[in-house]
Amino acid sequence: MSYGLVWFKRDFRVEDHAALAAAARAGPVLCLFVVEPALWAQPDAAAQHYHLMLEGARELHAALRRLGGRLHLLVGDMPEVLARLHAQAPFSSLYSHEETGNGASYERDRAVARWCREQGVRWHEFPQFGVVRRLTDRNKWQSAWEAHVAAPPIPVAKPSFVDLPWPAQRAPTVEALGLSAQTPPRRQSGGRQAALDCLHSFLDERSGQYRGGISSPLSAPTACSRLSPYLAWGQLSLREVVQAARLQGARLPEGDRRRAGLSAFVSRLYWHCHFIQKLESEPALEFSNLHRGYDGLRENDWNQAHFDALVAGRTGWPLVDACVAMLRETGWINFRMRAMLVSVAAYPLWLHWRPVGLWLAREFLDYEPGIHWSQMQMQSGTTGINTTRVYNPIKQARDHDPRGHFVRRWLPALRRVPDTWLFEPWRMPADLQARCGVRVGEDIPQPLVDLETATRAAKARLHALRARPEVKAAKAAIVERHGSRKRPTKRTRKAAMDDAQMEFEF
Ligand SMILES: Cc1cc2nc3c(=O)[nH]c(=O)nc-3n(C[C@H](O)[C@H](O)[C@H](O)COP(=O)(O)OP(=O)(O)OC[C@H]3O[C@@H](n4cnc5c(N)ncnc54)[C@H](O)[C@@H]3O)c2cc1C
Repeated sequence: MSYGLVWFKRDFRVEDHAALAAAARAGPVLCLFVVEPALWAQPDAAAQHYHLMLEGARELHAALRRLGGRLHLLVGDMPEVLARLHAQAPFSSLYSHEETGNGASYERDRAVARWCREQGVRWHEFPQFGVVRRLTDRNKWQSAWEAHVAAPPIPVAKPSFVDLPWPAQRAPTVEALGLSAQTPPRRQSGGRQAALDCLHSFLDERSGQYRGGISSPLSAPTACSRLSPYLAWGQLSLREVVQAARLQGARLPEGDRRRAGLSAFVSRLYWHCHFIQKLESEPALEFSNLHRGYDGLRENDWNQAHFDALVAGRTGWPLVDACVAMLRETGWINFRMRAMLVSVAAYPLWLHWRPVGLWLAREFLDYEPGIHWSQMQMQSGTTGINTTRVYNPIKQARDHDPRGHFVRRWLPALRRVPDTWLFEPWRMPADLQARCGVRVGEDIPQPLVDLETATRAAKARLHALRARPEVKAAKAAIVERHGSRKRPTKRTRKAAMDDAQMEFEF
């Protein structure tokens, strides 16, 4: 008996699942989830991602059980797993969502497509985001996104299930996959139920803090939706989140802070796909400068000591080190602090974005290659189409942590340092250092470089390169291919200021 094979990867849900629904319409289905060691051996993979994925897979298994089926787990390289299964129990079609992943998953997909062609198996792929495969005209992208998110959610399928011809395998341990077992002790839990709880607490209450609350690392952990890991692993569908937010926004009265928050939130969900589209259209941007005129800018100046200090949270700039401490503990930090970390790495520390991006990919529970690599390049100034954004970590601390609560929470050594010196403790007179029990250079590090001088030199190097005629000339083609066509909606000046994150995104 032939059947359709449904391949779950970053889409651990039965709700609004186009691949499962299409397979169920066509005939009996077998639901498969594959742990692919080659993907987990990539330098952007981390144990926290693996755990989050397994938590999603466990709940998906339970949901399929309720429908009368199960999720079968196999381990191996995908083409080899398909061949094994096909030899035992031939299937006619493969069903999955499209994935815009890292280079390794792209190569894996090409190998799967080859295998399917050779075996005469039809592979049906469905978009799960508002990302368009083989996009030919960027001008039509915005309406394609809207059509995707506004379409009715796909009802939960009730397929007739078939079983694997042999017992399912067990998920390998993180050690067996060669991953470091260390994970952030306070990361978000995965799974559909945790995702729904997070969504509802945001829609019902927390969205009221969104506008005005997302920039400070103090308020952001509750003001932001915190939905990113669930979107990255498909434990929620993008469409269901957009529609739930729009519905809730429409129900709330004018003037309700949640209404304004939800509207700003939905625009982020648009940016989610806008950035992933860049990687979909240009997979090389994970590895190479989007604007090739920037090649060689930082690549040959690698400073291992700067990188090691950044990763250890020992740059000497309190806000930077506090962010690294929070990230290590929770696997999350808000947009502005991510942008600041990358800016500090790229400008005063003059570090190339690729190794910094690999480190952050492992640190971010919500690692989503399309957003991540586009943002890494944008904040490092190598896209050629964005204004240079350089964040001064001392100013950011004054603006977003004026009383020093965040810095003191994450850097206990600074708890007794008075407010006046908190963000520049290296300027503290020696007798005051002694009185508050902190020795700069011993208990806490000296800044790695002089911030002002190093930033000025970095900007000068970037601007000199940007001014070259050949670099200027290549810009138009990048705008044509990747630039946003979104027209800003009419917003009040105050709202635009609250919503400062928007100005960084193109
Ligand atoms: C250097 C850098 C790397 C980043 N890497 C990632 C990543 O790997 N994965 C990831 O999901 N986000 C990434 N972001 C974007 C952003 O910081 C996170 O999406 C956000 O902090 C997640 O928290 P949230 O879900 O509470 O966000 P919310 O503010 O509640 O936003 C809702 C959703 O909108 C999307 N979104 C929000 N901000 C952006 C943005 N600037 N660009 C694109 N989509 C956005 C995300 O899917 C997010 O879950 C990165 C930002 C920077 C500066």
